[in-house]
Amino acid sequence: MSASYLELKGIRKTFGDTTVLNDVDLSIREGELITLLGPSGCGKSTLLRCIAGLTELDEGRILLGHTDIGRLPPRQREVGMVFQSYALFPNLTVYENIEYGLKMRGEGKAARKSRCEELLALVDLEEKRNSYPQQLSGGQQQRVALARSLAVQPKVLLLDEPLSALDAKIRKSLRTEIRDIQRRLKMTTIFVTHDQEEALTVSDRICIMNHGNIVQDGTPEALYTKPRTEFVARFMGSYN
Ligand code: ADP
Ligand code: MG
Repeated sequence: MSASYLELKGIRKTFGDTTVLNDVDLSIREGELITLLGPSGCGKSTLLRCIAGLTELDEGRILLGHTDIGRLPPRQREVGMVFQSYALFPNLTVYENIEYGLKMRGEGKAARKSRCEELLALVDLEEKRNSYPQQLSGGQQQRVALARSLAVQPKVLLLDEPLSALDAKIRKSLRTEIRDIQRRLKMTTIFVTHDQEEALTVSDRICIMNHGNIVQDGTPEALYTKPRTEFVARFMGSYN
């Protein structure tokens, strides 16, 4: 088993009197897709935001390789994030949305073009390159968001309920597509969801979260067949 690639140690975050993350430890191997599964309000988004640098953590360390990125500005962390709502720039085309991060980094035009072409092919949106976000379906918009976050070649990809806003049929096909892309790129990924079926189908490993803590962590099979608590059993659907 390879060493952990992304390691969270003792992550704490409070908002006022509310402890949202209470000493979270988590290790992820390179190329692994783990799912954070837990009820609404348990701290999933806050944890992702802390990793991405969008929320400042109170305590703890975030090791990526051998670097503690926990206090670096977001742009220096090499972490990509996709949100539940599409968060695309409405006044930019599909191509320009994907190109945006590369432009900000000062990449030359030729390099930007070849990278964008690669990504348009990856998410199968070559024909939509000149469309604007409002001309696309929800699923297509999420594929643009995925391409945009991959453009700058992050070391870790964070997906915060990327399928929640979509209807059931699109949700199923897009989750397979995300899983395929993740495997092809061997991208180290944290996938957040509150849907156990989604977690069971996409994950190498599932971390069940409740009240700001990871309460059990294991393969989908292990969690389903050997839940350690009633909460986990209920959440995995192995208890009625
Ligand atoms: P989840 O993504 O699992 O639904 P969140 O991480 O969004 O949970 O939220 C966890 C808790 O933290 C919730 O009780 C939420 O109200 C609170 N919270 C999140 N962000 C803030 C904030 N910026 N200020 C105050 N409370 C917040
Ligand atoms: Mg959330």
